[in-house]
Amino acid sequence: MLKIYSEPEVEAEGLDEILALAEEAEEPPPEPPRGIPRQWLPGWIRWPVRIVLLPFILLDLGAQKIARMLIRPPFKKEGKCLKRGNCCHYILIPEAKGALRKLFYFWNTQVLGFYRRHPEVYESDEKRVYVMGCRYLRKNGTCGHYHLRPAVCRKWPVIEYFGYPRIIKGCGFKAIPRD
Ligand code: SF4
Repeated sequence: MLKIYSEPEVEAEGLDEILALAEEAEEPPPEPPRGIPRQWLPGWIRWPVRIVLLPFILLDLGAQKIARMLIRPPFKKEGKCLKRGNCCHYILIPEAKGALRKLFYFWNTQVLGFYRRHPEVYESDEKRVYVMGCRYLRKNGTCGHYHLRPAVCRKWPVIEYFGYPRIIKGCGFKAIPRD
């Protein structure tokens, strides 16, 4: 069980159960009861913004890769993506703190196109996270905008410096402890 932040505060099925669903799913989960919400930010704003920011995202990811080569995390990632698409069913987006909270939410929903699967905010590794779906996931498990996919998708599965890596079973990757 996991504590869920909402009004009123309730106990509900936890993140582990949700991730287990993502591991076993043979097809995408149902859409939210009211359907996938529309993005009201027009495409002629969203897509140019994403194209302009792409080189910065790639530079940032490159810098992170170099940092990981210099200071190695305790686990290494092996394997390759089997293109099941299950990791795109439930995307955990951390809730930003303070003044950035609304801006970060706007970025993830209006610009990147994620949408809330559950109204609740969950707790994972002492962070508050939204569980989101992605409108660009195709029925065959492939990404509808692979070349412009967000940083979170490019980094997944992430091997953190602390804790045991959380990798969806059957995705093709595994975490191996370093010698
Ligand atoms: S943008 Fe592509 S890779 Fe990222 S969650 Fe959506 S479908 Fe998956």
